[in-house]
Amino acid sequence: MTQADIHQEESLDPEDWASFRKLAHRMLDDMLDYQENIRQRPVWQPVPEQVKAFLKQSLPQEPQPREAVYQDFIENVLPYPMGNIHPRFWGWVMGNGTPFAVMAEMLAATMNPNMGGGDHGGNYVEKQVIDWLKEMFGYPAGASGLLVSGASMANLVGLTVARNTLAGYDVRARGLRAGERQMTVYASTAVHTCVHKAVELLGLGSDALRLAPVNTAYEMDLQALQKMITADRQAGLQPICVVGSAGTVNTGAIDDLQGIHEICRREGLWFHVDGAIGAVAILAPEIRACVEGMQASDSLALDLHKWMFMPFEAGCVLVRSEPAHRRAFSLTPDYLAHAERGLAAGSAWFSDYGVQLSRSFKALKIWMSLKEHGVQKFGRLVQQNMAQAQYLAKRVDEHPLLERLAPVQLNIVCFRYNPGGLELPQLNRLNEEILLRLHESGIAAPSSTLLEGRYCLRAAITNHRSRLEDFDLLVETVVRIASQVQPF
Ligand SMILES: *Cc1c(COP(=O)(O)O)cnc(C)c1O
Repeated sequence: MTQADIHQEESLDPEDWASFRKLAHRMLDDMLDYQENIRQRPVWQPVPEQVKAFLKQSLPQEPQPREAVYQDFIENVLPYPMGNIHPRFWGWVMGNGTPFAVMAEMLAATMNPNMGGGDHGGNYVEKQVIDWLKEMFGYPAGASGLLVSGASMANLVGLTVARNTLAGYDVRARGLRAGERQMTVYASTAVHTCVHKAVELLGLGSDALRLAPVNTAYEMDLQALQKMITADRQAGLQPICVVGSAGTVNTGAIDDLQGIHEICRREGLWFHVDGAIGAVAILAPEIRACVEGMQASDSLALDLHKWMFMPFEAGCVLVRSEPAHRRAFSLTPDYLAHAERGLAAGSAWFSDYGVQLSRSFKALKIWMSLKEHGVQKFGRLVQQNMAQAQYLAKRVDEHPLLERLAPVQLNIVCFRYNPGGLELPQLNRLNEEILLRLHESGIAAPSSTLLEGRYCLRAAITNHRSRLEDFDLLVETVVRIASQVQPF
């Protein structure tokens, strides 16, 4: 390489930091405006055809000015959000993010550490966050944990530890073929499908996921569970784990976790809890008794991007036995040797506790948010959303044309418009049309589900921006739209 070549070395940094800084400040101001004025915007709007066409351009070969690239974002991406940061978004189960967490994401991206391992500030932040989460969710200080993408991954990690620990032989080395009996996992029919996926990915096959029926409150029927376990044992199968739901996705029902814990103890089974939605109820004094028993689980899946309002992605798995957790995932090749000192030191490498090696700095937004607000504030917000769910349920119950379809134990309200005299298929189609028009109106965005074949609008309230008047507007708008859809 000649001296002349060296002068032509390229990098991806701006050549002119002053003009870059100006643009960056504008981007920041625009995003602060966007967040501050979110209430004035539609929740959602369809992506127009010309925007879809714009987003099918060929691969850029040559540079474009940053200002123009940003303008493309402003015109073609930003106006078409999912909607979940809006105060009237109650679809599926999603958090909203917070302005301070947005800034934390920028700080994390600036440091850009790889959180797989090593001795650097980020890893100490994640350890601190996991210690805080153990304390929040009643896990012992010696337990282990890992921040992951979300509850799907947290359930997969938890169930992997369960399978490897309960198999009775070295599954990692010998695979499932070496097992003498088919291992089985138990959950209720209301369990989230990511548990089905996890059981499939673990090689057990979805037939090995035994689904116990639910009672009228959509909670697992524990007598049926006990019978299934006994029958499976008699049939020569090997039960290993029961998954309890702390907040089911359809209706927010909380299984009898203490009862499941009892059965697991008696039967020698791993007790896993999917706490994606409802584990945070432990922070709210009025409801905390409902999740009692969760603390006794062997592993617990949490979702901080739902009812803890963190920006995506932020999930966590806690595992009571640190050695069991490490044994399920640790694999240290020469090129990842852990040193005594220097950058490759550090007592625990997160890559030894999960699937990912390279990992993003999710911990920072959680750490900064817990410090910004204090954990009690999160408990009050959970309580606030539950009170709003009760308020919405009451508005629905009082309205002659609205009908509630499930009890509201937590924060999920399932209801439909029912003028009377319609057959089920028509009634379902009417309510589906109402929901589509509601989305298109940009006024509010609940989602839908089917409860025993009955289509319903489903508001899952994990929203720190919602106010009571937002639910009044929802009820009024549903009834107004319904009157326009008819006759159906
Ligand atoms: C959302 C959800 C999941 C999956 O979590 P992700 O964060 O989307 O991966 C699992 N279980 C329940 C009960 C959920 O609501």
